[in-house]
Amino acid sequence: MMFKNFKNVDKCTFGRGTFNKLDEILAPHRKADNPAMIFLVDNYFAGKPFTQRVPAQAHDMVLFIDVDPHEPTTEQIDALRDKILAEKGLPSGVVGIGGGSIMDIAKAVSLMLTNEGSSQLYQGLNLIKKEGVYHVGVPTISGTGAEVSMTAVLTGPEKKLGLKCDWTVFNQIVLDPELIAEVPRNQWFYTGMDTYIHCVESMTGHLKNTFSEAYGYKALDLCREVYLGEGSGQKPDNDDKLMVASYFGGLSLSYSEVGVCHALSYGLSYVFGTRHCFANCIIFDQLADYYPEGVREFKQMVKHHDIFIPKNLSKEWTDAQVDKMADVALALTHMWNHAMGPDWKDKVTKQQIKDLYYRM
Ligand code: NAD
Ligand code: ZN
Repeated sequence: MMFKNFKNVDKCTFGRGTFNKLDEILAPHRKADNPAMIFLVDNYFAGKPFTQRVPAQAHDMVLFIDVDPHEPTTEQIDALRDKILAEKGLPSGVVGIGGGSIMDIAKAVSLMLTNEGSSQLYQGLNLIKKEGVYHVGVPTISGTGAEVSMTAVLTGPEKKLGLKCDWTVFNQIVLDPELIAEVPRNQWFYTGMDTYIHCVESMTGHLKNTFSEAYGYKALDLCREVYLGEGSGQKPDNDDKLMVASYFGGLSLSYSEVGVCHALSYGLSYVFGTRHCFANCIIFDQLADYYPEGVREFKQMVKHHDIFIPKNLSKEWTDAQVDKMADVALALTHMWNHAMGPDWKDKVTKQQIKDLYYRM
């Protein structure tokens, strides 16, 4: 029997224009002694008219964060936490407005405002000691499922691992598809494919079950409408679908697991800093042996939207780098266990994993 007992987001609103309700949503959560809300906004929006719609009051703080130099780090979270406490004291809440990176930053900052020391101390499962402050996620890119997941993935000096516990999960998410309208086409594709791959992996493996399949099938259907065939592409009704697909994909994997692509993806990101969704696309493209149907359809979507997926990368890689990637991938035992079964060690060798990397 598989036992999971996962925490869902407390409240969720969905629809065009729901962002306009944010002020109203936050009001009851502003505490009398310190009503401050901290808005962590993706730097992409700095200086754009959208910022005037962020419902910041005089005592609040709006911080624009550039997520492009690197994925969120423990050092970055610690510095943000220190700055907020120094300038505002313990605020009433944190609101993240951005893509998967900002979702993770908002979750992590909420937790680190009440837990002492560096966030590196808490990379892992259930290491957080105290509930964080109220936190809200407003996604502006869809696909990672970070809006619903119970982890805030951080890169630390020693490892890339999430702060994972029930308190990580958002208290509120605001799913307003208008906010993803201008995502650049490549990013729209790579991040959306994270959802597609979450579903293929969660539904192909030993932990699959009716709960994860119910969300997974629907999310896959929505992905097909968004990325395949005539009606596909970036347009308002598809943005609605993609936003729901991301959420459902997250729920599908909450009650199952990801698999081979994500295991290899962590290796690639660890060694080369390749961003999660882009790394997944590079890897999934080579996984026809493991996910034949999914990879076939993925290639159709790539072709349909004429998306660049790099190939022949491995000719620049040293054996030591490939070896390290394989070690990182193999350490994700829960993913192999799901993908191949409890006897996975008899089925997959380190050399096979290295060979997969060498195909890229
Ligand atoms: P992202 O947040 O890294 O942003 C990618 C780019 O898009 C950035 O340049 C950003 O400024 C820009 N951007 C954001 N919103 C935009 C908009 N509306 N219009 C135009 N540009 C916009 O992208 P992502 O793919 O959503 O997130 C990837 C991150 O999510 C990684 O750090 C990964 O580790 C994390 N992740 C977390 C989970 C989880 O469960 N916690 C799951 C998967 C991935
Ligand atoms: Zn993913």
